[in-house]
Amino acid sequence: MNRTVYVAALHEKGHFMQETFETISFAQELDKGKIVLLVLADEESVTTLSRQLFLETGLDTIGLKGNFLKGYSAEAYIKTLSSFFRDKEPACVCIPHTSQGADFAPQLSVALQACCITAVEAVGNGAFTRTMFGGKFKVEIRPTKQASVLTVLPGTWNPCSHGNIVQGELTITDVPDESVSTRTHGIRESSHKNAALSDSEVVVSAGRGVGKQENIRILRDLCSLFPKSALGSTRAVCDLGWLDYTHQIGVTGNKVSPRLYIACGISGAAQHVAGMKDSRLIIAVNTDIDASIFRVAHYGVVEDLARFIPLLIEAYIKRNRE
Ligand SMILES: Cc1cc2nc3c(=O)[nH]c(=O)nc-3n(C[C@H](O)[C@H](O)[C@H](O)COP(=O)(O)OP(=O)(O)OC[C@H]3O[C@@H](n4cnc5c(N)ncnc54)[C@H](O)[C@@H]3O)c2cc1C
Repeated sequence: MNRTVYVAALHEKGHFMQETFETISFAQELDKGKIVLLVLADEESVTTLSRQLFLETGLDTIGLKGNFLKGYSAEAYIKTLSSFFRDKEPACVCIPHTSQGADFAPQLSVALQACCITAVEAVGNGAFTRTMFGGKFKVEIRPTKQASVLTVLPGTWNPCSHGNIVQGELTITDVPDESVSTRTHGIRESSHKNAALSDSEVVVSAGRGVGKQENIRILRDLCSLFPKSALGSTRAVCDLGWLDYTHQIGVTGNKVSPRLYIACGISGAAQHVAGMKDSRLIIAVNTDIDASIFRVAHYGVVEDLARFIPLLIEAYIKRNRE
């Protein structure tokens, strides 16, 4: 049986995303056999992109060329990959769990009659681990089908190291012209990036546990005690409209690694943790002793933040006056 592991190499503006290289590391850890990288792109860019990836990894790389693949579209990706896999029996198709990967992976698994496991963050004993319910539970999922479509949580594996030995081959293949009803006309730069956050030494971050928008002020007061500090948040807080999306930290937001990260009322969902786990010192304040943020925190305070943070501010000011 063909036990090939395929990696869909996602790219943007002529460059592969870091998550692609992390997903290749994940595929290598699966240790199932041959790894083949798939690059979907239009005629203009497919050769350059595929060659770039091939030279960087030394792994078998197939460029899938189709003019309807100019710019990302879930429909075009699913059609191309479904037809590519028609006469193959992949062991796994690994895809970065970015907004694109999470967008097309489930439908691809239906087309391939494969099982779909998303946001995988650990692997072992034939099972894949992911979190559920905002990081409260870790579940081990064992595929029951021959083929699996897996999306890999960003920030969990180190990007693969550059291949010194070229083991594979580079191939460019035409994909049959597909009629697609959706096309990407361009990509606008995200306004979610926040230079203040990435340059900060201290990040005070707000989670849904702040309770209401007015309580953000308490965290701003804490933040203002430190020079080179910035206010961050979880996606839940941005979705609630308490802070705008430039503050969001995580997989689909900013990635930060400050000297001090104070997580206030944050459950510690994997999607958030992926954006802050490299902080040098992490302090978490949460009323729930079982909150998974305490698994990554160096210090944990089990307390109502609306009670604890004002006391902390008061104690800090008093100490600095003495
Ligand atoms: C594809 C995808 C991408 C995502 N990307 C991101 C991302 O980039 N960033 C991100 O953050 N999320 C992201 N999410 C959402 C993520 O899964 C979580 O839903 C989110 O991080 C939860 O935010 P939270 O911790 O603020 O809220 P909750 O999970 O609701 O946690 C609130 C916490 O506050 C605590 N609490 C309650 N009251 C108090 C109090 N008075 N004092 C102290 N603690 C209190 C509770 O015990 C709880 O642990 C993504 C989800 C998906 C599906």
